[in-house]
Amino acid sequence: MKKEYTPPAMIELVIASTNVHKIREFKAMLKANTRFDVRSLRDFPDYVPLPEAGGTFEENAVSKAVHAAATLKRWVIADDSGLIVPNLGGAPGVYSARFAGNDATDVDNRKKLLEKMHHLLDEDRHAYFECCIALASPSGIKKCVRGICEGTLLVAEKGGGGFGYDPLFIKHGYNKTFAELEEATKNRISHRRKALDKLVSSLESILEEICTF
Ligand code: IMP
Repeated sequence: MKKEYTPPAMIELVIASTNVHKIREFKAMLKANTRFDVRSLRDFPDYVPLPEAGGTFEENAVSKAVHAAATLKRWVIADDSGLIVPNLGGAPGVYSARFAGNDATDVDNRKKLLEKMHHLLDEDRHAYFECCIALASPSGIKKCVRGICEGTLLVAEKGGGGFGYDPLFIKHGYNKTFAELEEATKNRISHRRKALDKLVSSLESILEEICTF
């Protein structure tokens, strides 16, 4: 007789990030799924992350997730994300967090982006955020998904919320920057949301695997 499948009550899932904004966004997005006991790297202060060395968001997300899952011996989701401006040859891309240098702040990065784009007309200021999220177990990579969010970059900052390039970015169909929108609104329409939705939709098979792990 086929053995009945009984999923565990709670599954510990570590978000491989120490960025408080990202952790809050991920936790808010995963809240609807009460099966997860969601942690982050802030709960593992001794963990030493790998330096980001990949040439794509996918490579970086996968290596972050695999390394953290093997080290922490837990299921891990890791993301790598950034902003792409086609008329700047794809910059800042995988260098989004350190566009203005290794120790650059969000303010420095936005300033550099505005400088690089000063010659671009409104209609040429198209940009999109991309997010790749990788899920790994201690035994290796399980899945990697991608989400994008398309919009336009302003010539000056607007709004005090969010992080990174949020004060410059207006999603198509909206008239407020990501930094002006309610956090809950951004979380419903963001590149991370789109990627996470794809991951969550395949959770049943993932849960089954967790049980047999
Ligand atoms: P990561 O932490 O290596 O994924 O770097 C992501 C970088 O891309 C951040 O430091 C931001 O500069 C930018 N970024 C990614 N997602 C967002 C977002 O939702 N809003 C604004 N900037 C973002």
